[in-house]
Amino acid sequence: MHAQPLTPARTSAAGFDLAPPSADDRARLERDLSPEERRVLLEHGTERAFCGVFLDNKKQGAYSCRLCGLPLYRSSAKFDSGTGWPSFFAPYDPDHLKSVTDRSYGMVRTELRCARCDSHQGHVFPDGPPPSGQRHCLNSVSLAFTETGQPLPDRLGRGAPEGGPLGEG
Ligand SMILES: [Zn+2]
Repeated sequence: MHAQPLTPARTSAAGFDLAPPSADDRARLERDLSPEERRVLLEHGTERAFCGVFLDNKKQGAYSCRLCGLPLYRSSAKFDSGTGWPSFFAPYDPDHLKSVTDRSYGMVRTELRCARCDSHQGHVFPDGPPPSGQRHCLNSVSLAFTETGQPLPDRLGRGAPEGGPLGEG
């Protein structure tokens, strides 16, 4: 792990503004959530296996945070892990996720949260495919999918990053 700078980076390598939502923005975004989305994103729940809408999604595009719209994964990094949850071997940009040690349920796991809004996304395990060896195990309700060629969600009104809207890339 590298040392954290005193002021966290506000722009990711992919060009996205990582400043957290304001209190007003957060309240507005949270009002839009369904009870199930609220339970997973804000209360760190896990959806039931094989129930998520994105488990078998084979379309090309990007998966963004359901709450704040930050792109978290690309379809090109999605794989069938057989676990019943959408799984990815690499993030859209490592800056877009943060990992937190989770000791719930008598296990030590690494929880994944959106680096911008801190919402719960899933867990990462060290048994994924090459080249990364990582398995990012996600909840479909934590994510919103954007097909390649469509503009990414801009829930915070911050505009597209330099270089234009990014879908699959
Ligand atoms: Zn977010």
